Amino acid sequence: MINHETIDNIIQTARIEEVIGDFVTLRRRGVNQIGLCPFHNEKTPSFTVSPAKGIYKCFGCGKAGNSVNFIMEHEHFSYPEALKYLARKYNIDVEEEEQTPEQLQELNEKESLYNLNLFAQQYFSKTLSETEEGKAIGLSYFKERGIREDVIRKFQLGFSPDKWDAFSEHAIQQGYKKEYLVKTGLSIDKENRLYDRYHGRVIFPIHSASGRVIGFGGRILGSDKSHAKYVNSPESDIYNKSKTLYGIYFAKNAVISKDNCLLVEGYTDVISLHQAGIENVVASSGTSLTHDQVRMIQRYTSNIAILYDGDPAGIKASFRGIDMIVEQGMNVKIVLFPDGEDPDSYARKHHPSEVESFISENAVNFILFKTRLLLGETQNDPIKKAVLIKEIVNTIALIPDGISRSLYVKECSSLMAIGEQVLMNELNKILRAKLKKGSPELEKNLEVISPEQISAEPQLDFDPDSAEYQEKEIIRLLLLYGQDIIHLKLTNSEGEDVPVTVADYVVHDITHDEMEFENTIFQSIFNEYITGMETDSIPNRSNFLSHSNQEISNIAVNLVFSPYELSENWHKNNIMVTTEETRLHMHVMLSLHAFKSRKLDKMMTETRKKLSVATTPEEQGALMKTFQELKKHSIRINKEGLGRIITH
Ligand code: ATP
Ligand code: MN
Repeated sequence: MINHETIDNIIQTARIEEVIGDFVTLRRRGVNQIGLCPFHNEKTPSFTVSPAKGIYKCFGCGKAGNSVNFIMEHEHFSYPEALKYLARKYNIDVEEEEQTPEQLQELNEKESLYNLNLFAQQYFSKTLSETEEGKAIGLSYFKERGIREDVIRKFQLGFSPDKWDAFSEHAIQQGYKKEYLVKTGLSIDKENRLYDRYHGRVIFPIHSASGRVIGFGGRILGSDKSHAKYVNSPESDIYNKSKTLYGIYFAKNAVISKDNCLLVEGYTDVISLHQAGIENVVASSGTSLTHDQVRMIQRYTSNIAILYDGDPAGIKASFRGIDMIVEQGMNVKIVLFPDGEDPDSYARKHHPSEVESFISENAVNFILFKTRLLLGETQNDPIKKAVLIKEIVNTIALIPDGISRSLYVKECSSLMAIGEQVLMNELNKILRAKLKKGSPELEKNLEVISPEQISAEPQLDFDPDSAEYQEKEIIRLLLLYGQDIIHLKLTNSEGEDVPVTVADYVVHDITHDEMEFENTIFQSIFNEYITGMETDSIPNRSNFLSHSNQEISNIAVNLVFSPYELSENWHKNNIMVTTEETRLHMHVMLSLHAFKSRKLDKMMTETRKKLSVATTPEEQGALMKTFQELKKHSIRINKEGLGRIITH
């Protein structure tokens, strides 16, 4: 258990824009910052971060919260895991209350897998740099490959001793469970004996975007053909190959600042390019790029350059996959290395500045690259050429942006020596067919209003006369303006001005009329205000934003982030208001009035209903009395309420 002071400290210190900025590229937009939502697929940013309020909200998918919620959601962390992550980021010491054995057991399984991986990574690193075997075999291998010591440390490279069970035995001795050793794949269970998966191999730890070790790759030393060159972690609760990019943790800042991401084949390419000072590079590790991996890159940039070793057959095989990236609205370039060279070998043979300029000079737009490559194969065969046109136009049709599409039509037409109109006709045919099928991509593109505009002018998706809306409004006022002062003009003492806080006024007004909220979450938030007023302390907004009850924190965040402000409602009512305080005052009065009178109306309706089915005269009499009282109450509220509003 993390103690309360530490939690407060973490929440106070964490700056939402910095926390989110580690995962999403944010641009300033007025007082807020916006970016592409990491929780759903979008091309126009509707993910909004408010540094002032310490919260985020996506107007596209509705996800919202504070720093802690973001980390929980994004990294799939539990509440304490997220707090610990933030504490690490801001160098805050986590004061933990001593854990009981039961609590230790409760430490969830994922955390145990992460812990074990961290332990293993440290063991492999230590073995590499501190043991005779590690130095003689592992370290000298890396040195032979020309990898510098600082780079070895940065990527936390390691070595697993060439003994069947050295690591497994050590881990068991240190108290790590067999179950987790098998689940992480560090050990293989064979007839109830544990064997080290990576024994005798150099180790490449694989990190998540936030820098935790989620898996490993192990390379055999030398060129023993009887064993696989690389052995990798199996899939586990914390390692999903298709959602992982090797090097993303070390690359993300450079990807953002260069607004470009280089994609290579594997571990050694990433490491060699880093060593040459090129840090915006990730690898998909042995698979063709997946949808999830593209989305991961898209959080940081929309430009991607794929670095290939010069093997046209291999490249052609990957065209389908690249089409998928184009469809995501990304700009894809291809860099072809000279025959027999991959980024790793090229970087080892050339000066860093040469590597850099080779990449920038040889990056060719994918569509033009594809056109050129296929064109080379048609050799003026008209049938082959017709197939080529279809193929290229199909790819162009995938580009979500209309302007880019026409630019490519122009370029390809001159490359292929085919009239622009021919391509255009072909393209339109495909686009029309897609539209008929109701392609969501294309429809989005044909929309007149962009999601940005929608989020800038929020539509009222609620009924202002509903209980839901009115109750929400009261809670929103408490959260946003609870501490603010309004001045009441007392009627009994010559218009004396009495300053009260909004929280004080609202709580007293509602409790005085013995009203309750229909929504139980609203009621529990309100109860915390009642308790607060009893001890003269207004609950702090951040208490609710990071409330341990997830339902409460969700609601609080959504309310605090509600895009409409006081003035807009006033504008709608055509009332001229002068100062901010008057506006707030009037808003409080009107909201309370609406809340109470609707509530009374409802009670009256219910009483009337009961009356219509009441059988005994006693019953009827009692109900009549209740009804009269409610009616009186309602009239009083209307008179008082509106009087207060109008006279102010
Ligand atoms: P060599 O020294 O023979 O060039 P290498 O370690 O550089 O060997 P390559 O065969 O050149 O490996 O492969 C290039 C990249 O592809 C490597 O960086 C490696 O990370 C990756 N790779 C190859 N096979 C696998 C595999 N089975 N799993 C994961 N990554 C792999
Ligand atoms: Mn290689």
